[in-house]
Amino acid sequence: MTRLPDPSQTIADESEEERVSRLLTGLSAMAILFLLGIGAKAWFATHTTHAGALVIFASLVALNMLVFARTGHRQRQKGGMIFIVGLLFGYLIVTGGESNTGPLWFYVFPPLLFYLTDLKTGTAVLLFCCLLAVVVFQFPQLPLVTAEYTTDFKIRFFATLTFESIFCYVLEASRLKARNELMDLARAHAYAAQTDELTGLSNRREMQHRLNAEYSRYQRSGHHFSIVLIDLDLFKHINDDHGHDAGDEVLRKFSELMQAVIRQTDVAARWGGEEFLILLPDTSLLQALTLAERLRFEVANTEFTFAGKRLPITISAGICSIAKAGSVNELLKQADIHLYNAKEDGRNRIAPRVRTTSNGHTPPGARA
Ligand code: GH3
Ligand code: MG
Ligand code: MG
Repeated sequence: MTRLPDPSQTIADESEEERVSRLLTGLSAMAILFLLGIGAKAWFATHTTHAGALVIFASLVALNMLVFARTGHRQRQKGGMIFIVGLLFGYLIVTGGESNTGPLWFYVFPPLLFYLTDLKTGTAVLLFCCLLAVVVFQFPQLPLVTAEYTTDFKIRFFATLTFESIFCYVLEASRLKARNELMDLARAHAYAAQTDELTGLSNRREMQHRLNAEYSRYQRSGHHFSIVLIDLDLFKHINDDHGHDAGDEVLRKFSELMQAVIRQTDVAARWGGEEFLILLPDTSLLQALTLAERLRFEVANTEFTFAGKRLPITISAGICSIAKAGSVNELLKQADIHLYNAKEDGRNRIAPRVRTTSNGHTPPGARA
C-alpha cells in the first residue's frame, strides 16, 4: 500500500530546536560577559557581596553551557537557562542590585520565556515570578529582602511589565500561528507534488523517485525488486459508453482494490491515464507474476458499477524483474513490451506467461 512519508514536520521541528539552541548559546555567552562586567564594576565600587553573587550566576550559566556541550540535551539547556535567569532576576529584585535598578532586568524575562517555552508554560512561569515580585515589594521586612522600592516605582514597574508581557504573548501567539499555517501549506504542497489527485496514489514523479531509490538499494545490497505495469482494458469504451465520471469512478475503485491486494511494503502509483505501476521490493519475477495474476483475477471478478449499470472491467499487465534489466529505464521498457504482448494476446492477461513443467511446477529459470 502506498504510504507517503511526511518528514517535513520532524525536519522543521529539528531545525527550529537547533536554532533555539544556537540562540541560547549566544545569549548565554553574552550573559556571562555582562555578569562578569557588572560584577567587576560592583567589585571596584566595593559592593563585594553583589560582585560575588554575579560571578556565581555567571558560573551557573557557564555550567549550563558546559552540560549542554557534553550532553546535547536541548530541553535541559532551556530549562537550566530559564531557572538560572529566574533566580538571577529574583535576586536582583530582592536585593535591588546596583542603586535599586535590579528589577529593570526583569523586562528581559517575558520575551525570553515565551520564546523558549510554549505560551501556557511561559504564562504560568511569568505569573509565578510576578507573584513573588509582588510579595517582595509588599513585604520588605521578609528575610533576605534588602531592597525597598517607592510606591511610584512599584506601580510603574508592574504596569509596564504587564503591557510588555501582553505584547510578548500576542506576538508569540501570532508568530506560532503563522508558522503553523506555513507548515500546513508546505505539507499540503509536498503531498500534492507526490500524489495523484483522483486516486490518492503516488503520482508518476514520486514513483520515478521510488524506482531510482530501489535501484540504488539493489546496486548497494543486491535486493531484487520487480514491477507490474497495468493498463485497464478498453477503457476508452467505458468513457464513451458511460461518461467520463464513470471512468473516474472505475479508476478510483480499481486503485482501492489494488491497494487491498498489494503488501504494505509495495508502492502503487498512477503512472498516467488508465495506467498504473506497482513497485514490489524484495520480490522475484515469479512472486510478482503471482501477485499480478491475483490482482487480474480480483478485478475480473469484482463488480464495477456506475449509476446502477455494471461496467465490464479487466486489466492487462506486463511484469519485469530487475534481474532481467540493467537499469530502471530498461526495466520499464521490458514491462511495457510485456504489457503490449498481453494486449496482443487478447487482454485480461498477464505477461510474460508463467512457464510450467509437465508436472505443473515452475522451472528454476523462471525465478528472478
Ligand atoms: P487498451 O485496452 O488497448 O488499453 O484500450 P484503451 O481504450 O484502454 O486505451 P486507449 O489508450 O485508447 O484509451 C485510454 C482511455 O483512458 C482514453 C482516455 O480518455 C481515458 N482516460 C485517461 N485518463 C483518464 C481519467 O483520468 N479519467 C477518465 N475518465 N478517463 C481517462
Ligand atoms: Mg493505456
Ligand atoms: Mg487501456
